[in-house]
Amino acid sequence: MSGEGLTVRDLRVTFDGFTAVDGVDLDIRPGDLRFLIGPNGAGKTTLVDAVTGLVRATGSVRFGDQELLGKPVHRIARLGIGRTFQTATVFEELTVVQNLDIAAGAGRGVRTMLRRRKDVPEPVARALETIGLSHLRDRPAGVLAHGQKQWLEIGMLLVQDVRLLLLDEPVAGMSHDEREATGELLRRVSEDRTVVVIEHDMDFMRAYARSVSVLHAGRVLSEGSVAEVQADAKVQEVYLGRASEPEPAPGPAPTPAPAAASVAEEA
Ligand code: ADP
Ligand code: MG
Repeated sequence: MSGEGLTVRDLRVTFDGFTAVDGVDLDIRPGDLRFLIGPNGAGKTTLVDAVTGLVRATGSVRFGDQELLGKPVHRIARLGIGRTFQTATVFEELTVVQNLDIAAGAGRGVRTMLRRRKDVPEPVARALETIGLSHLRDRPAGVLAHGQKQWLEIGMLLVQDVRLLLLDEPVAGMSHDEREATGELLRRVSEDRTVVVIEHDMDFMRAYARSVSVLHAGRVLSEGSVAEVQADAKVQEVYLGRASEPEPAPGPAPTPAPAAASVAEEA
């Protein structure tokens, strides 16, 4: 594992007297694939906003040996910290390669970046490979499927050589296959970077998290491995109990109960 870890101490964010993040401590090791879970309104997005400089916060957020709190957004980005938002923000009219090229910047003029080229710069080619979009490199980003747009956004962080990725619900709205592909992508990405994923989907969390923090009402309720967090009575009480109720999801309807009952009778 290489790269820097993220250390958060007594992080607090207040909006007009309402405390959205209420004294959070986190220790995220280099190369971790940390899932931040918790009910709606737990403060997950606000925590990421605080780390990336989008909201004012008190306490301490260190990435490697750098204190992030108090730094403006662009300086935090320049330290190798990147995030995605719940809705993808790619340039729909530009091709996949052009989106990556613009993210990479690399001091080239806009015209050079927008020209269609046979050879793409090495970091762009590598990112295309990693996100699995090489075959779509010259298609406009607007025609990509929802999941592919999220992958492109992750690619746009990779070409900037981001070393800490903070992803806000990257698999929301994705199909089962897209979720699996995203999980594998996050595994690859976290081989030499630190990744923090905000997630709602418990199955996805169980399958891919290396470590988990459960947030509730602005505080860390529990932290550890998937098994540790799942075994935590506090978590079962306030979160897992509710989250494990069936939620309306796209896809085939579950097997109707009568069929299952008849199988049981035959046995
Ligand atoms: P999560 O991402 O865990 O669903 P959020 O971080 O978005 O939760 O929100 C945490 C709490 O802070 C919520 O109660 C939300 O309404 C509140 N909040 C978030 N952003 C703002 C804001 N800009 N102004 C006021 N309240 C906010
Ligand atoms: Mg959120």
